[in-house]
Amino acid sequence: MTDEGILLVVSGPSGAGKGTICNALRKLHPEICYSVSATTRAPRTGEIDGVSYFFTGEQKFREMIKADAFLEYAKVYDNYYGTPKKQVLDLVAQGHTVLLEIDIQGAMQVKSKYPQGIFVYIVPPSLAELSYRLYTRDTDSKEVIRRRLEKVTDELALAHQYDYIVVNDELPDAVDKVRAIMMAERCKLARNRERINTVFKKYICEEVHHHDD
Ligand code: 5GP
Repeated sequence: MTDEGILLVVSGPSGAGKGTICNALRKLHPEICYSVSATTRAPRTGEIDGVSYFFTGEQKFREMIKADAFLEYAKVYDNYYGTPKKQVLDLVAQGHTVLLEIDIQGAMQVKSKYPQGIFVYIVPPSLAELSYRLYTRDTDSKEVIRRRLEKVTDELALAHQYDYIVVNDELPDAVDKVRAIMMAERCKLARNRERINTVFKKYICEEVHHHDD
C-alpha cells in the first residue's frame, strides 16, 4: 500500500499568472506530474499537441464527455477545455503529486468530485495590473480580453471556496508560496500513514537486530 498523492489544483482568473507559476514550479519539481488537458481551441504558435494540450475537434471532445472521460470540463470563453480523468486519478492513487492548471468553473467541479484535492487560488495584485497583463500578453483579441475582465468580479467571489490564496505580485514570491503549500501538504500526517508504518517497522527490526548482536 502507498499513501495517496496530492491533486494540486491551481486556478484563478485568466491573466492572474497561474500558467507562469505552474511552469516555474514544474521546473523546480520535475517529479510533479502535469495533467495535459484536452481543448477544442486552435494551437498557438509554439504549442505542441500532447505537450501543451491535446488539441481535439469538437466532435471528439463531445465523444469524450459522453464516455465520461473527463474529471471536469468547461467552456472557457469560446472553447472547451477538459481534464482527462483516468490518468490523473491513477497517478494520484500511486502517490504522485498531480498538478492541474484550470479555470475556476473546472476547479469547482473537481472540488465536488475530489474534495481531498488542494485548491489554490491565484489572485492578480489589482484589476489594473490584470488588465495590463492581458493586453501585453497579446494572445487574445480585444473582445476576448474585455469579456475576461468583465468576468473577474464574479470569479473573485468564488475565492472563498479554495484552501489557499496566493497574490501574484512578484512572481518568485508567488512560486515560493505555492511550493510551500505543496511541501506542507506533503508532510501532513494523514497523507503519510503508510510511510510512517514502514519507517516504524524498520526501526523495530533494527532494534531487534541490535539486541541480537
Ligand atoms: P488558454 O487558452 O489561454 O491556454 O487557457 C484559457 C483558460 O483555460 C485558462 O484559464 C486555463 O487555466 C484554462 N484551462 C486550461 N486547461 C483546462 C482544463 O482542462 N479545464 C478547465 N476547466 N480549464 C482549463
